[in-house]
Amino acid sequence: SLLFPRAKKVMPGGVNSPVRAFNAVGGDPLFIKQAKGSRMIDVDGNEFIDYVGSWGPLIFGHAHPEIVTAITRQAELGTSYGASTELEIQLAEKVVAAVPSIEVVRMVNSGTEAVMSALRLARGITGRDKILKFEGCYHGHADSLLVKAGSGLVSLGIPECPGIVSSLAEKTLTLPFNNIDRVRELFEKEGKEIAALIVEPIGGNMGVVPPKPGFLEALSEVTKKAGALLIFDEVMTGFRVSLGGAQKLFGVTPDITCMGKIIGGGLPVGAYGGSRQVMDYISPMGSVYQAGTLSGNPLAMAAGNVMFDLLSKDGVYESLEEKSAKLCQGLKQNVEDLGIDAQFTRVGSMFSMFFTSKEIVDFETVKTCDTDFFKRYFNGLLEEGVYIAPSQFEAGFMSAVHTDEEINLTIEASRKALTAARG
Ligand code: PMP
Repeated sequence: SLLFPRAKKVMPGGVNSPVRAFNAVGGDPLFIKQAKGSRMIDVDGNEFIDYVGSWGPLIFGHAHPEIVTAITRQAELGTSYGASTELEIQLAEKVVAAVPSIEVVRMVNSGTEAVMSALRLARGITGRDKILKFEGCYHGHADSLLVKAGSGLVSLGIPECPGIVSSLAEKTLTLPFNNIDRVRELFEKEGKEIAALIVEPIGGNMGVVPPKPGFLEALSEVTKKAGALLIFDEVMTGFRVSLGGAQKLFGVTPDITCMGKIIGGGLPVGAYGGSRQVMDYISPMGSVYQAGTLSGNPLAMAAGNVMFDLLSKDGVYESLEEKSAKLCQGLKQNVEDLGIDAQFTRVGSMFSMFFTSKEIVDFETVKTCDTDFFKRYFNGLLEEGVYIAPSQFEAGFMSAVHTDEEINLTIEASRKALTAARG
């Protein structure tokens, strides 16, 4: 697009978030003109079936009529008051009813902000500094969490981010995902110094890496024993794998839950919550300070409320499951027919295809992928009118509005792209 050179003149790398850049796959990033349902059209007039869905929020596709109406109506009544509204209570009540660990919830403006606040809360409650996270998990770009992080850092090959105070980074311990023995060992030694263990209950930012059976239960057990808090970062999984998130799906209840993406219906929102006892530490009840001018923004709350109601209708998750299973079966059949090494992972409507022969369990196994092959495959798909995340290390997202026909088209496009990538 002609816009890219212009964008590069005034924005770092021409983008406002590095995951949008095409550094890992070559070529210019897409500049979008408009989108509807499962389709996006770029400024050059190319149309794509979209499996990024704004990186997860658009579980009902782009510009869903009911969400658009809610936002438009609210805009006429005012876009921000910096004072409380009933819409905030309504959405909080819905979240509390749906998510097992949450009795009280605070709205913020992004996933990063939710996680950053949750960490401060855990440190404030326990009076401890250390946190434990897993290699390849991404929890937003707060200082404590950009250590061995997934998502854009893996795609761009950034092992360590400059600019983070070393005394802070030292407080972040990291271990391989899905390895409970290592977690137990570490907690034996340092458990009493650890404020919180934070985890994506389903790894989503190194591609989709489901937890092994018993992994999340064990995390709950070791943190309880050590008096550390368990934080589930459900920014990606919340309202996606079930209305109650991954915690509902797996039956494991964390102390604090972070959310984002879907809860804003495509507008900027994050949230964190927990028991009343935990959340009472937050200001103005407690002294752990956290604030936000636009937090609980009425446009975002209006969109979130409608999104929630749509998700609460019968059959939504069953249909997402069916569509996603159908797509992944088709993609799998392709690689089998063509004799290509690939692994598939999926939980509900989040899925990945990894170009490796190794079983995917953690960041090390994810890193065995053939990223050159992915690059050719991605560009082949784009040629065929299918848009997936421009990185091997990101999840794919199915929406409730993708049709059977579009899924068949995608499987066909994938076969062509694989054939071309194989050369
Ligand atoms: N946590 C997880 C699990 C995420 O997937 C993301 C974003 N992809 C974040 C935190 C950060 O959210 P945001 O980009 O809204 O700051």
